[in-house]
Amino acid sequence: MDIIRTIPELKRIIGPVRTSGRTIGFVPTMGYLHQGHLSLVKAARSECDFVVVSIFVNPIQFGVGEDFEQYPRDLASDARMCQEEGVNLIFSPSEREMYPRGFDTRVQVEELTRGLCGRGRPGHFRGVTTVVTKLFNLVEPDIAYFGQKDAQQALVLKKMAADLNMNVTLKIMPTVRETDGLAMSSRNAYLSPDERKAALVLYKSLKQAEELIKDGSRNASKIIDTMKEIITGEPLAQLEYIEIVDTTNLEHIDYMEAEVLIALAVKMGQTRLIDNIIVEVQ
Ligand code: AMP
Repeated sequence: MDIIRTIPELKRIIGPVRTSGRTIGFVPTMGYLHQGHLSLVKAARSECDFVVVSIFVNPIQFGVGEDFEQYPRDLASDARMCQEEGVNLIFSPSEREMYPRGFDTRVQVEELTRGLCGRGRPGHFRGVTTVVTKLFNLVEPDIAYFGQKDAQQALVLKKMAADLNMNVTLKIMPTVRETDGLAMSSRNAYLSPDERKAALVLYKSLKQAEELIKDGSRNASKIIDTMKEIITGEPLAQLEYIEIVDTTNLEHIDYMEAEVLIALAVKMGQTRLIDNIIVEVQ
């Protein structure tokens, strides 16, 4: 497995892979890998000839006062995990390599980034779509893998790839959870033991919503109220949003008739956690 830091080196390796006709599977990450990331890597390994993982904590997707500096990093451990999964190449560029002095271009999806996490994190998705465009241009993947854990990000990136006629298929893989239900996230490393316990309210509220819908409840605001009670009942939790939206365009739903996305963001101490589920409505 190669660990590559620069764009010229990356191109030197990717060029021959492409011309030999091998398929390239790509998993973009910010590192500090866990089983959620590795589920994407495993999918890429099983479906593609050559697997690339990028590890880059992308400064332009973090807002002022967010956790860019503190974001956990451990390239040695990430590399071990990737090696065990049969990854062919890790691309881990410096900030300067990705954003040389004078870098002045942004890629932006408009409507889909207005709500949910876009409201509380202005500029975040623009940073994501910009870096992923660059990475797609560099790695030239046939298939790129993303997690349902970041549901809005997955939809935004699919829209970007479709609107800009990008030559890549995006695959969205299910959320991987700890045994108690907490969605795996590199940011879980920030949680104190008490916050870690309290963080279970996210999944608990989502499961409760699912139960209510299964029992026939169709009124979104009633379901949101029940979820809010669960979250606000946890003193360490500060709710940012709970929304029930259409799974394709993220528009608000009042009366549920078809599949819905239930998504929430909660601050647990200083740590911002997100989670979501998709629920079929019969
Ligand atoms: P990140 O390193 O947080 O930017 O995540 C890189 C990729 O891994 C994104 O496509 C995420 O959606 C995905 N991912 C992160 N956590 C999980 C998880 N618990 N289950 C599935 N995919 C995940």
